[in-house]
Amino acid sequence: MNIAKVIVDVPATQTNRLFDYNIPEYLLGAIKEGMRVIVPFGPRKVMGFVMELTDHSDFDQLKDIVDLMDVVPVFTKELLDVGKWLTEKTLSFYISVFQAMLPQALKATYKKELHKLTNEGLSDALTKMFAGREFMSYEEFTERKGDYRKLQQAVQEGLIEINYLVKSKETKKKETFITTNLKPFQLEEEIANLSNQATKQKQLLEFFAEHPEPILQSKLVSRLHTSRSTIKQLIDKGFLVENKVEVYRNPYQEENYERTTALPLTEEQHNVMIPIYENLKSGEEAVFLLHGVTGSGKTEVYLQSIQRALENGKEAIVLVPEIALTPQMVKRFKGRFGSKVAVLHSALSAGEKYDEWRKVQRKEVQVVVGARSAIFAPFENLGIIIIDEEHETSYKQEDHPRYHARDVAIYRGEQHSCPVILGSATPTLESFARAQKGVYKLLSLTKRMNNASMPEVQLIDMRNELHMGNRSMFSIALKDKIEDRLEKGEQIVLFLNRRGYSTFVMCRDCGYVIECPHCDIALTYHRNNESLKCHYCSYEMTMPTSCPDCESKTIRYFGTGTQKVEEALTQLIPQARVVRMDVDTTRRKGSHEKLLNQFGNHEADILLGTQMIAKGLDFPTVTLVGVLAADSLLHLPDFRASEKTFQLLTQVSGRAGRHTLPGEVIVQTYSPDHYSVEFAKTYNYEGFFKKEMEVRKTFHYPPYYYLTLITVAHPNQVKVIETTKKIAQLLAKHLSSEANVLGPTPSPLTRIKDRYRYQCMVKYKNEPNQRKIIKRIVTFFEDDIRQNDLQISVDLQPYQLM
Ligand code: ADP
Ligand code: ZN
Ligand code: ZN
Repeated sequence: MNIAKVIVDVPATQTNRLFDYNIPEYLLGAIKEGMRVIVPFGPRKVMGFVMELTDHSDFDQLKDIVDLMDVVPVFTKELLDVGKWLTEKTLSFYISVFQAMLPQALKATYKKELHKLTNEGLSDALTKMFAGREFMSYEEFTERKGDYRKLQQAVQEGLIEINYLVKSKETKKKETFITTNLKPFQLEEEIANLSNQATKQKQLLEFFAEHPEPILQSKLVSRLHTSRSTIKQLIDKGFLVENKVEVYRNPYQEENYERTTALPLTEEQHNVMIPIYENLKSGEEAVFLLHGVTGSGKTEVYLQSIQRALENGKEAIVLVPEIALTPQMVKRFKGRFGSKVAVLHSALSAGEKYDEWRKVQRKEVQVVVGARSAIFAPFENLGIIIIDEEHETSYKQEDHPRYHARDVAIYRGEQHSCPVILGSATPTLESFARAQKGVYKLLSLTKRMNNASMPEVQLIDMRNELHMGNRSMFSIALKDKIEDRLEKGEQIVLFLNRRGYSTFVMCRDCGYVIECPHCDIALTYHRNNESLKCHYCSYEMTMPTSCPDCESKTIRYFGTGTQKVEEALTQLIPQARVVRMDVDTTRRKGSHEKLLNQFGNHEADILLGTQMIAKGLDFPTVTLVGVLAADSLLHLPDFRASEKTFQLLTQVSGRAGRHTLPGEVIVQTYSPDHYSVEFAKTYNYEGFFKKEMEVRKTFHYPPYYYLTLITVAHPNQVKVIETTKKIAQLLAKHLSSEANVLGPTPSPLTRIKDRYRYQCMVKYKNEPNQRKIIKRIVTFFEDDIRQNDLQISVDLQPYQLM
């Protein structure tokens, strides 16, 4: 096997295939499938993935591989196959897919070091090369023409370790500890000397008289309800001292997690476990849809299913949406499986993420909990895959390769003959429809734990508030209830849905929203020419000056930001302590966690936030949830707007009354009669499902039809329109007459980074040639793409229609 077939790191149509390279003598036997190599490509040297080894090539005069980057393959055979399949499925480049499957730290630019772990058993050549040092750079090893096979052997035998040096922008983390240099009796004296008004200072000194050992400043502040300024006064007087101590950052230290054991299951949980156990035993692939109301104990079902898989000697992947991958969630898995768990979270630095990934590669862990890309964890003996909150759109990658983690999970489940569990209180229509057809096996949990009832949902019609003269964004009922909870010392979650765009136009008087007559979606407001457009079918009208329904002049586009809400809130109820959580306040690493802890420690009364607070939070003293503007989601220019509204209202409501205190939900809306709002109020998933399926059928949307979205972008608007038009024509010509090609039409986000964006959409039932046709169309524009900065992106399973 002296020839390697390689995918090179040159993402372009012409290079999206295997290239043959000769394996030089010194690398023979060292190069394996799934390793990264450096190969000459034209005048350059590029990274490549070895896909196959062979003895035969149809080309002569092959070039030599110039370097080997890995000692152990970064891809298993199965993952190489997954990558090939995914490339075809998403119409991507091989190289983009394989890069997406690896942790960022493994991108070619990182430096490597060889670390010697022991002196015993190392070959003479290697011992000589280390020359008494503990480590050396990989470059040195290659420059001195080290023996790769020997190195490989040494790594496999655990004599040498390869470390990737990840350049980290993070500065080292320091924490402030407070302590005292005074003896207890001296402190007593100083306490006596303090004036009677200085109660805060006295309290602090009394604390140190009893606990002289150093304490974290933040802990001290929250424990004594004191402030930094009080501490500072005492430091200035020389009574206390502060030390800044560097802390080593290991985000998931084992000792931070109290171990838990399997809970005795409820009858419902037990019934759900039976078919899962059967499947784990028989080792047949199957997809289960676990439909369980919020707080019904789905996570316990996951935990016990994983436990069984581990007992069978297998491994497990658990996917959790990025924003729900909270410390609370991690705690539940670490608590149950301890050091068997690796966590892949995007808030980790590249180095930390790589460390977690490597635990999987070295088989040091059997469970991975992570966001979308954790589905590529390099396990070789998968026993179960779980996707929590399967309806979450964050499982779809919105960048190349545009894959959906659910599809990858099901594909890997087939390869490993293992069950896949999709869990949700509000499954996607696609999944529930499949469960109804028997493609997935439906499992249901209908009751909350301890028979806790779902919180009562009250709809507030904001049109009436306006008519009563209340122009604020808080209804009278919501204000009253907030004040009530503040008095009782209970906590409140306020939810403002905001996606950053206020694209639709609504009458504040009657709630009328202008929709496309053909597509059943809200028209999008375009400021530049004061028009309203449908971005599915390109229907267009001028922006009306009064409501077409009631003639009121209060018609305008809709939306407010969290910051504005916070200001209004503190004006309305000044005594409320508010924690705001949105993209702005959580940008910094660790801030998400910090804000949640603040709220959890009851240092605030109200948690105000966007999407990111809708999931997974579980605070016992939250008894009121307010949804400020249910409408902003309902009228997104997206055929899934109703579904998203239903999901979100259900999830948000699920945050209240999860424990002993009963909960209550206030939903403010201009469309209290909309079915998604009504069904969410009564927690009627099946009612919603039935109604929404009718709508989808009528307007030819998934799950009845498939969609393809093609977006064209270029700085020149005319060029974009012409190209999109041409693409639409070609599609219409080559697809079957059953397919419906819509567009060209401006994307709702018509201009991004100085590029105009137009799109066309295909609705179809069965087009076996579609991929081939699209590939040909893209090739047709290849020159423009390469030379003229034209972008064409194809999404075969679009979720984000912006
Ligand atoms: P879900 O994931 O469906 O929203 P959770 O798994 O968070 O629900 O469960 C809600 C609460 O009930 C959690 O605090 C969990 O610890 C508890 N719980 C789950 N199963 C059991 C059980 N069998 N016995 C007692 N408590 C349970
Ligand atoms: Zn339309
Ligand atoms: Zn009106």
